[in-house]
Formats: sequence, C-alpha cells, structure tokens
Amino acid sequence: MPAQSCPCQSGKTFAHCCSPYLSGRENPRTVKQLMRSRYSAFALGSYGQYLYDTWHPDYRGALQPEDLDARELNWLHLDVIDAQQKGDRGSVEFIARFSEADGTQGEHHERSRFLREQGRWRYLDGEIF
Ligand SMILES: [Zn+2]
Repeated sequence: MPAQSCPCQSGKTFAHCCSPYLSGRENPRTVKQLMRSRYSAFALGSYGQYLYDTWHPDYRGALQPEDLDARELNWLHLDVIDAQQKGDRGSVEFIARFSEADGTQGEHHERSRFLREQGRWRYLDGEIF
C-alpha cells in the first residue's frame, strides 16, 4: 500500500504515519500517535493483535486479538479535539464518524485515557460523551 493516504486522516501517507506502529516497527511516542494508530487499526480491520497489544491488560477484560480483527463499522472521519500528556499519563478527546452496514451514519465522541509503562503507551479506557 505505497501511496495510500493514512486512514487517520493526518494528511500523510499510511507508510509515513500509522503503518510503522501497526507493523510493530516503531512504538508511538505520544498519546496522539497511539490514538490515531488505533483508529487506523479499527478503520482497516485485521489489526486485532495491535489493538490487543496496545490495550492495557488490566482494562481489556476477556477480549482476544481475533475479537478485535473485525471491521464492524465503516470509519469515515477522525477529529482529534484535544490531547494531553503529563508524565506517563495522557488523554485524547476525539470524534470519529462512521457509517453502519445499512448506511446509517453516526459519531463516537470519546476522551480516551492512556498509561505509559516501560516506555510503551497503552489504552486504558474512555469516557463516552
Ligand atoms: Zn495515521
């Protein structure tokens, strides 16, 4: 997928944006990068292992990587509203727009919380608005 634009709509190509994170070649350095890459993983589908690995074990419950592979919604647009980082804790507020299989459109507005341990950011949970 050489010149494909990144699903997170950063305006960069996939190869120069979320791909290095999804392929495991690099770890996101900021909560914003992690959030965007997780959005791309959901948007593309088949990146369940990445979503699993970047989800804190204490918070992902009984979910398995294969549960996260499905592309249940068609993700259309991402707006990052706010991103904050303080030491090893961070949060990102975003609105993601999607359409369902029958064409119904909706949006998901969330403030996600992240924690960095051993240099790796992981998703904890989110407050849904
Ligand atoms: Zn991206």
